Amino acid sequence: MVSNVGHGNKEVISGILDQVKELSFAHTSQFRNRPQEEYASLISEITPPALDYVYFLSGGSEANETAIKMARQYFIEKGKPSKYKVIGRWSSYHGNTLGTLSAGGHVKRRMAYTPLLIDFPHIDSPDWYRNPDADPIYYADLLEAEIKRQGEEQVAAFMLEPVTGTSNAASCSPSVYYQRIREICDQYDVLLICDEVMSGFGRTGKYFASEHFGFIPDLITGGKGISGGYAPLAAVIVKDSIFKTFFEGSGQFSHGHTYIGNPVSMQAGLMVLKYLRKYDVVEHVSEIGKYLLSELQNVKTTSDIIGDVRGLGLMIGVEFVADQENKTPFPPEAKLAEKVKKVCFENGLIVYPGSGHINGDQGDTVLIAPPFVITKEEVDELVGKFAESVNEISRDL
Ligand code: PLP
Repeated sequence: MVSNVGHGNKEVISGILDQVKELSFAHTSQFRNRPQEEYASLISEITPPALDYVYFLSGGSEANETAIKMARQYFIEKGKPSKYKVIGRWSSYHGNTLGTLSAGGHVKRRMAYTPLLIDFPHIDSPDWYRNPDADPIYYADLLEAEIKRQGEEQVAAFMLEPVTGTSNAASCSPSVYYQRIREICDQYDVLLICDEVMSGFGRTGKYFASEHFGFIPDLITGGKGISGGYAPLAAVIVKDSIFKTFFEGSGQFSHGHTYIGNPVSMQAGLMVLKYLRKYDVVEHVSEIGKYLLSELQNVKTTSDIIGDVRGLGLMIGVEFVADQENKTPFPPEAKLAEKVKKVCFENGLIVYPGSGHINGDQGDTVLIAPPFVITKEEVDELVGKFAESVNEISRDL
C-alpha cells in the first residue's frame, strides 16, 4: 500500500540523497523550496481539472484533519460561519486523530475515544456484495436527508473514500452514486472531500479513483504511497475556487505544522511521481491489476470461505464468509481476518486485515495491495501463496 515503486529504487534514492545534501529543512512559514514548487506544479498536471493547488503534510490523518479545517475556514471566508459539520459514512476510515476519527465511521477504532469525539453525523454505505440489487440513488439520497436533518446552514462537508480501504476492503459503488452525491453537495453548498489516502496517486490504475466514476471532488487527500515510503508525506489538493476564496478573503489558512513542505519529503514525492510518469507505471497498475483480480477470482472458485473478490487496479479486497450461499459472516471471535494475515505472513505474503464493516463487529476482509512495479511472475507467486494460506485456514476450521 505504501512501497509503490519498490524498495531500493535507485532513481528515487539518488534524487533524495542529492536533496539531503542541498537542503534538509526550511520552515514553510518563511521559505518555500525548489522540490516543493516543482512537485506542486507536477501534481497539478495529474489532478482533475480545476484542482490545481496543493497543501503538503506528513501523513494521511493529518491531511484529512487539514481538509476538515479547510472546509470550516472556507465557509467563514465565504460569510457562512454556521457551517462546520462534516458528514461521514459508517465503516469508512479517515485516520486516527480526533477530528478524522469523528468524521470516520470505523466503529472499532472510534470505540475507546467516543467521549472525545466531535458529534459528526454519518450515513450508511452500501454493501454491494450482500445487496447487489440495491439502488445507488437511494444510498446517495441518504446524504440529502442527513443534510436536511442537520440543517444545510450547519453542514460544511461530506467525506468519503471513493474506494473503501481499512474495513470494507476495496468496495466501490456504481458511478451514478458518486454523481448524485456530487449533485447533492452542489445543491446544498457542501464541500465534497474525497479521501484518496489509499486509493490515490495511481493505486487503482488511474491517478485518482474518482476518475473512474466521472465526478470531481472539491478536495482530494492523498498519502501512503505518494512518496513510495521513502519519507513521510501526504497532501490536500484543493479546487482553484477554494484557494481563491482564501486568497481574496483573509489571505491565509490558519493552520500549519513544522514538517509541512519538508524539502526531503518533497523531493521523495517528486522523484516517485516522475518515476510513475517516466515508466507509465499507472498504466501497468491498471493492466496487471486486471490479471491479479481475475487470478484471485479463480482462487475463490476453489475455496469454501471466500465470499467475494473485488477491487480496482492494485487495490483488491477479499471478503471471507462462513457460508457462501447465505453470505454469512464468521463470528467476530473467530478473528478470521487476523488469522488470514498471520498464515499469509508465515507463507511469505503481507496482506492488510480488516474487520467490523457489518454492524461494527462482523465481517472479515483482507486488502491485497502489492507495489505498482509487481511483475506477472510475482503476481503468480502472490496468488499461489494466498491460495495456499486460505486452503490451510479452511482445512483447520
Ligand atoms: N484515510 C485512509 C483511507 C486510510 O486508509 C488511512 C490509513 O490507513 C488514513 C486515512 C490515515 O492515514 P495515516 O495512517 O497516514 O495517518
